[in-house]
Amino acid sequence: MFISSRKGGLQLVHRNYMYRSNLRRQGPEKNIVYWECAKNRTLKCRARLKSVGNSLYISNREEDHNHPCESLRIVDASKAGNVTYSDIPSLKNVNDRSKME
Ligand SMILES: [Zn+2]
Repeated sequence: MFISSRKGGLQLVHRNYMYRSNLRRQGPEKNIVYWECAKNRTLKCRARLKSVGNSLYISNREEDHNHPCESLRIVDASKAGNVTYSDIPSLKNVNDRSKME
């Protein structure tokens, strides 16, 4: 589940926390994307995820979030129609679509 912002950015939602990524694909098969908590800069939250293909891996322990989850914000986004369901390998397509809007 993803939330697209008005700027065309994309955030990953996992267990009611939001993550963002530069979407730079790494690794020998270019299928690894790193996600950091959306509060990484403002709150210095260190929780991170790694996705390989369509699978998510937790790089740090989930409890490393130093703030409550953002379920309210996620509910707001879904009411506003900003929520996208997609799989990770097709994220490029999601970005292309948001540019067209
Ligand atoms: Zn966090």
